[in-house]
Amino acid sequence: MTGQTDSSQPTTPTLAQLTTVGVGGAVDRFVEAQSEEEFIAAVRGADAEGLPLLVIGGGSNLLADDEPFHGVVVRDARRGISVLDDDAHAGVDAGAVSIVAQAGVNWDDFVAFCVDSGFSGVEGLSGVPGTVGASVVQNIGAYGQEVASSVSSVRVFDRESKRVSQLDRNDMHFGYRSSALKSSMYTAPATPADSYFPTPRYVVLSVTFTLQRNETNEVAFGQLAKALGVEMGERMPIADIRQAVLKVRAAKGMLEDMSRYLSPWMRGCKNFHIVTDVLSAGKLASHDRFTNVSGEAGFHQDFDRHSCGSFFMNPILDAAQAAALPEDAPRFDAVLPDGQPGIKTSAAWLIDHAGFHKSYQLHDGASAGLSTLHTLALTNRGGAKASDIAELARVIQDGVEAKFGVRLVPEPVVVGMDLR
Ligand SMILES: Cc1cc2nc3c(=O)[nH]c(=O)nc-3n(C[C@H](O)[C@H](O)[C@H](O)COP(=O)(O)OP(=O)(O)OC[C@H]3O[C@@H](n4cnc5c(N)ncnc54)[C@H](O)[C@@H]3O)c2cc1C
Repeated sequence: MTGQTDSSQPTTPTLAQLTTVGVGGAVDRFVEAQSEEEFIAAVRGADAEGLPLLVIGGGSNLLADDEPFHGVVVRDARRGISVLDDDAHAGVDAGAVSIVAQAGVNWDDFVAFCVDSGFSGVEGLSGVPGTVGASVVQNIGAYGQEVASSVSSVRVFDRESKRVSQLDRNDMHFGYRSSALKSSMYTAPATPADSYFPTPRYVVLSVTFTLQRNETNEVAFGQLAKALGVEMGERMPIADIRQAVLKVRAAKGMLEDMSRYLSPWMRGCKNFHIVTDVLSAGKLASHDRFTNVSGEAGFHQDFDRHSCGSFFMNPILDAAQAAALPEDAPRFDAVLPDGQPGIKTSAAWLIDHAGFHKSYQLHDGASAGLSTLHTLALTNRGGAKASDIAELARVIQDGVEAKFGVRLVPEPVVVGMDLR
């Protein structure tokens, strides 16, 4: 079924209308699947025809080219969340609860459901845009939590074997912003694989989470502890942790623009009560410059609204690369892709110390720039093209490489452009 809602509307959206950064070209075919069968049929159909396939969730980790996407864009319209009863999840310990969420569920709707139900384990991931399906593709993480720690299994359609199967958490090979699904799309960092790009070999149909039945949890991140006025490691109500996370994210412009859900192409993708509540109160706007809402993916005076979140991953370096960094560069223990110990540094620190500060633009009045609130977010300030964002990204990559010898790798899935 196509996502058309009104005969005066075009029959397919553009990728600019489906992505948070608000850039990207026309789409040849758009399918909004209402059932698992429709979802699988759309994926199988595109693959059988040899057409490029983009399974899209919230479009919050995608930077797509200005050229048309000559393929099929598929979105899962299902929004079901079920709590499994005790018999259905034998083997899970007493304080735990198993919850299944369909791929199309908006991630923050899922977090809100868990927090309201008294299930702890994902409250630190409040306000991360996107869907449950995509959350396991890049193993979303924030404020001391990663989705990997609460996932028990993932139901997938395998585009290779053409079968539905269940991947358990070990099969997922979760790492920092990575998983087996994400790895299936690349042969090297930012280098798309021939077979499965821009959508992984395994299409997520639903995810089973194991959370704790507990109204409180430990505060696992310094900034959060500060916002809550407690010490790290102290237990706090998960509802309070959620509110603190949303507040801290808002101050950094790291919440998505809720007005996008008023657009005909995004309406229904997120719990409408939450959307209207947020918009009427203006309370989760990135900051005070929250202006009126125009309905169709409009642009506002707020420069920080349209982004993919953090644009570059924090580099994980080997000992020699890390030793070459200035002494005051941040260093954290990490694991290299080959399993060897590595050192993670901060992409934001490298960018800032290479001379690209918050609000940086290639020239005055440019339509793309660094967020005024967050060094790692590349923003569409209004009217930017994908090529403007890509040009800015390349200048930053080149500048950081020239200064520190480290090539930053984009975190979003970059479609139709080369940002190696
Ligand atoms: C303001 C902002 C803040 C952000 N903050 C964070 C953060 O704190 N932490 C973090 O980790 N990320 C963050 N992100 C990035 C983004 O929210 C996550 O990567 C999110 O999981 C993307 O979900 P999505 O549904 O929008 O995916 P999309 O952008 O729609 O797709 C991304 C990739 O996932 C694939 N995909 C989507 N659905 C499926 C499916 N069902 N099966 C298989 N593949 C699928 C797509 O094909 C594509 O390859 C932020 C983004 C924004 C805009």
